[in-house]
Amino acid sequence: MPHDNPLIALLVIGLGLAFALGFVAVKLRTSPLVGYLLAGVVVGPFTPGFNADPVLALELAEVGVILLMFGVGLHFSLKDLVSVRAIVVPGAILQMLVSVLAGLGLGLLFGLSWGGGLALGLTISIASTVVLTRGFQERRMMESEAGRIAIGWLVSQDLLTVLVLVLLPIFAPLLGGAHGGAVPAFGALLLLIAETIGKVVAFVALMLLVGRRVIPLLLHHVAHTGSRELFRLAVLAVALGVAFVATHLFGVSFALGAFVAGMVLSESQLSLRAAEETLPLRDAFAVLFFISVGMLLDPEVIAREPWRLLGLLLVILVVTPGTALLLLRAMGRSWITALTIAAGVAQIGEFSFVLAALALDLRLIGQDIRDLVLAASIISIVLNPFLLYLLRHYRHRIDRLDGIRADSVADTTKPPLRRTALADHVILIGYGRVGRRLAAGLRAAGQPFLVIELAEGAAHDHAEQGGAVILGNAAEPRVLEAANLEAARLVLIAIPNAFEAGQIVAQARAVRPSAAVIARAHSDEVVTHLAHLGAEIVIMGEDEIARRMLQHAESRLRAQGPQEGAAAVGRRMDDESENAGFDTVR
Ligand code: AMP
Repeated sequence: MPHDNPLIALLVIGLGLAFALGFVAVKLRTSPLVGYLLAGVVVGPFTPGFNADPVLALELAEVGVILLMFGVGLHFSLKDLVSVRAIVVPGAILQMLVSVLAGLGLGLLFGLSWGGGLALGLTISIASTVVLTRGFQERRMMESEAGRIAIGWLVSQDLLTVLVLVLLPIFAPLLGGAHGGAVPAFGALLLLIAETIGKVVAFVALMLLVGRRVIPLLLHHVAHTGSRELFRLAVLAVALGVAFVATHLFGVSFALGAFVAGMVLSESQLSLRAAEETLPLRDAFAVLFFISVGMLLDPEVIAREPWRLLGLLLVILVVTPGTALLLLRAMGRSWITALTIAAGVAQIGEFSFVLAALALDLRLIGQDIRDLVLAASIISIVLNPFLLYLLRHYRHRIDRLDGIRADSVADTTKPPLRRTALADHVILIGYGRVGRRLAAGLRAAGQPFLVIELAEGAAHDHAEQGGAVILGNAAEPRVLEAANLEAARLVLIAIPNAFEAGQIVAQARAVRPSAAVIARAHSDEVVTHLAHLGAEIVIMGEDEIARRMLQHAESRLRAQGPQEGAAAVGRRMDDESENAGFDTVR
């Protein structure tokens, strides 16, 4: 049956297995990515049993890459990109150069030709955007300075890869490859390079000049139809459409095309909604990306060639991150920023597969080297979450290297924040639609309070009004510590994310049992969850809306109808509201 419906079989078996193995991985306290990759190995051609269609898997994975990079772009403005260009352009180029040289040396050691060594070096010098963004997003590190630099770094490498993909086939005969004709004359070559760069520039210019106006306008109109389905479709059509056009007309990668599409939308009010709408699809397709990577692995290669594999891993896990670390430190970045980016780029992924496939096609490298690159990639992807974990684990020590005192918080974003001097204060977590209203009330009441907010823009809004603010994720113990939770009177949790709210409630309960905790929820399950963890009062948004609407309905009916009838309706409504469990104040 699976052979009649290869796409459905891949989705059902691949996603099903990824879910099961991802679940086991999480239970074993490792990253779910390990489970997804293993699922790929199981449905891959090198293991017995069901074999998924690799071409289909790869294409679905591309959709994952597009949606992922679109999402990254949505949170990344042109201003962000420009602000890091002085670091990322030289940084990414120099790091690639060192990694390529190391790979070349390794290739020569393996007995490859100079061309083969160069191809191998290029293949292992570029980090995977998908792996880095997944890792950073999971840990909410995208909004930090390290996140911005890392994305700029990857965008620079992506652009270089576009150039390499065009130039490698041309130089293949010269490098000892089999395919291709004679190397073109110098003039023709320059023309080709100019054409490649010209196309990229034309694409970016088109997006900035036209796309930046047209795309938000289009989405704005669609949003006003009131149809969520249409809005979702419009966002998907834009993300996939721009990526497709970028690739087929301008020779830019899918990833870069989608990233630029997201970026031109990032300044629009609708970017947040666009991000929300693509989230579920993005996650599902990103899983397919990891499955397709796992499928490429021939597990035997690990036992067959352990030493050569180790050599590749040495470049990926030591040379590349080591170079990035040194460069970033030389450019004056803090240890935590430099180490975070170094850990982020200590892996290879999709670009390496594309380059390895091309080099194989050009006969610059053999099947054995390609298999080694794939195995090294998978091992580096599996190890990457562990590196990020180590960073978090040793954060205090790294902070000390940066000269930050132990009692203060180093946010990954900006200069370190010391523990607040406020005591007997209110801690307000989240400065969004709910938090801002709460802040206005607290301000009016003259109550000293401190805001913890993740988003830089919102945090600055509060700071501009003269308020105390900590920029960071309140679910992190160090952030709550800096807010002087031990001495707080009240904690107001005004964020919509139930998982993080739960972590905050639990910490508040553990550190400061006497402080009242009032939390926000959007479903009955979350109300129960937070109350169970120790939140004194949990307000369910929908309950409050219904309560206020009922109050208005009641007074309107009283004012309009005959006295008796309206009062009866009002009474019935009161009863209903009680039966409906509107009293969520627990
Ligand atoms: P809203 O849903 O409009 O009330 O916005 C919620 C606000 O909470 C946003 O500004 C988020 O940036 C912020 N937020 C969400 N999660 C966290 C967190 N873990 N720590 C601090 N702020 C957060």
